[in-house]
Amino acid sequence: MNTIPPFDLSEQFKTIGSDINQAVLEVLASGRYIGGATVENFEHQFATYIGNSECVTCNSGTDALYLALRSLNIGAGDEVITSPFTFIATAETISAVGATPIFVDIDPQTFTLNLDQVETAMTPKTKAIVPVHLFGQPVDMTRLMSIAATHTIAVIEDCAQATGAEWSGQKVGSIGHIGCFSFYPTKNLGACGDGGAITTNDPELAATIKMLRDHGRRRGYYHEEHGVNSRLDAVQAAILQIKLRHLDAWNEQRCQIADRYHRLLSPLPGIVLPQQLAGGQSVWNQYTIRVNETEPGRRDAIKSAIAQQGVISMIYYPYPLHQQPIYKSLGYPIGQLPEVDRAAREVLSLPMFPELSNEQQDQVVYSLKDSLG
Ligand SMILES: *Cc1c(COP(=O)(O)O)cnc(C)c1O
Repeated sequence: MNTIPPFDLSEQFKTIGSDINQAVLEVLASGRYIGGATVENFEHQFATYIGNSECVTCNSGTDALYLALRSLNIGAGDEVITSPFTFIATAETISAVGATPIFVDIDPQTFTLNLDQVETAMTPKTKAIVPVHLFGQPVDMTRLMSIAATHTIAVIEDCAQATGAEWSGQKVGSIGHIGCFSFYPTKNLGACGDGGAITTNDPELAATIKMLRDHGRRRGYYHEEHGVNSRLDAVQAAILQIKLRHLDAWNEQRCQIADRYHRLLSPLPGIVLPQQLAGGQSVWNQYTIRVNETEPGRRDAIKSAIAQQGVISMIYYPYPLHQQPIYKSLGYPIGQLPEVDRAAREVLSLPMFPELSNEQQDQVVYSLKDSLG
């Protein structure tokens, strides 16, 4: 029996390893390891790919969110509306700048922000909305931007899981006021280490973000703000330049794998397959099904059963953010965000990476058929 991992980065390296080795050696030989032309070239290429005039790279997707919030002067006393069904960084950075995350429920079909509840959650303190394009699936940005415009509120897109995804023919990250990206290795465009980027069409915001990422200075040793040190290494920028050329092809492979899962799994009872909104093009960072909780613990039982057959699945995310110890003090009563709670009990992410073979996928499907009975 073969083991099917949730993702496999070594398969990808087999196809592009020699290009990467050469690019890394060139950077090493150049002696320029921080900043410089390699990083600037990548920033230019990434802005062009997303469809923005500006791109500022940084150390991680987490820092991208933090710097974006700081650049808009969001801080103590401010509220930022977001989803509690996401990786901790989305809310952690709101707290890190001193603001308060306001959690609203999710749409059960897409696992993303329920836009009906965004307006209800607004108060005079609301300064921004952070939609998360979760699992690669874009939020309805047309509707969200019109809600934000009505209330003159900024939109910071968390695109960490959705590099290349489109809403209405436009890449996510180019629709809101600021787009934040992660190059964590398992993201659709992943570095060989940490990395992140911020995109915008506002040159002044980009200049502020550059200042904040470099110790709050615009020149020399003259510091106008409390900044941070958050840079993308030249080695990572060189690797990302090579990978960016393959991104559309890899995303297309993910789409084909998702289609095939859909075909092969749709007759199965007791599970719900992921759906796309009309107008959205997901890049399938995850293929996440729901195992209906017809009895308590059913999802976990299925997860163990397919693991017995070598199929390793993941649970993103088992504990919603509003129930995390760090957010207990915000006082969300159990049951206030029922769709998030239900998703946390039902979701199961199946193996998904561009190099997943038909044979491997068949094994995933057979193990599920067998376990669902
Ligand atoms: C990965 C991720 C982040 C953080 O990115 P890092 O590069 O790991 O700091 C933020 N938001 C979401 C939704 C993510 O999946």
